[in-house]
Amino acid sequence: MQKRRFISVVLVVLAAFIASGCAEETVDARVARLHKKMFTIDTHNDFSMWLAHPDGDFGVKGGQVSFQQMHDGGLDAAFFAAYQDQGPIDPEFHRFAREYADTLILLLKQYAEQNSELGAIATSIKEMKALKKAGKVALFLSIENACCLGDSLPLVQYYYDQGVRMIGLTHNGNNAVADAGTTKVKLHGGLSDFGKAAIAEMNRLGIVVDLSHASRDATLQATQVSKTPIIASHSCTFSVRELSRNLTDEEIVAIAEKGGVIHLALDAWLLRYGPDYSAASLDDFMNHLHYIIDLVGIDHVGVGSDFDGGGGVIGCKDMSEYHNLTKRLIEEGFSDEEIIKIWGGNFLRVFEEVERYAEEQL
Ligand SMILES: [Zn+2]
Repeated sequence: MQKRRFISVVLVVLAAFIASGCAEETVDARVARLHKKMFTIDTHNDFSMWLAHPDGDFGVKGGQVSFQQMHDGGLDAAFFAAYQDQGPIDPEFHRFAREYADTLILLLKQYAEQNSELGAIATSIKEMKALKKAGKVALFLSIENACCLGDSLPLVQYYYDQGVRMIGLTHNGNNAVADAGTTKVKLHGGLSDFGKAAIAEMNRLGIVVDLSHASRDATLQATQVSKTPIIASHSCTFSVRELSRNLTDEEIVAIAEKGGVIHLALDAWLLRYGPDYSAASLDDFMNHLHYIIDLVGIDHVGVGSDFDGGGGVIGCKDMSEYHNLTKRLIEEGFSDEEIIKIWGGNFLRVFEEVERYAEEQL
């Protein structure tokens, strides 16, 4: 009896110690602890455009992305897009788009090499985790606008071999793969036959399918056609901010039912109405986040900043300010487990399924 009582006392004291320890943890300490423990992933930026055109004016901000800023903000990995503006659907433009995408990918690889003390290119979850362990950040290659594929299926393999692990089907124009969300006249009624074949090839190889910018029909069809979950790498919700580029409830539900993730952009134009949209802050980001969580749950949201391509809001203007987002999630009452899911756990689930499916095809 005495021994049992002693154990009970020890347990009570231990519980009180743990409870008091938790209560004493400041928000800043919790932010630091979480960033050390969890994997954080941002699924979209346009840094490559600034590498290619250092003096370019794209009507958007630059200077929001770098390996150093990733370290400063506690970001472990990011998808760096090779972006192409949409042109005519013909062989000449397809050749140009491919050469352009190749150039951006080359510049990103050179950037990684030149900054190898801070980070490196990653092509798998395993490599990303090894980089975090070594104190380095991971650069994943992606494509924004699959017009660089033209209508040639072998080019999916070509880009996989280049290290590309995510392909966004369109930008703001229809291409040979799919219709875009922002065009008045649709070409295919969603995905083209080539687009369906390209998705099958992406599934086979282990490339994540990204539906940001694609038309509603293309998104819904992709959830049917793809063998693995799909994502939106940088989109927001139509119900909170009506834009043809934002996702309707039907699309959000379809992506979630497929096991996918909607990565909310930190993009003022996508987040907020009105002439003062540039005053968008983390408040607006939270409105969209809560909306999706209420609709489909915590397992289907993530972060896709669109930095250097229109992203940046008050409170989180570049990658170095990502601790502010974590702090805000804590202040909103999210648990550690929920924050880990939002920051990368949900995406890792998708990426793992994409990798597993590809391995099964070998
Ligand atoms: Zn975009």
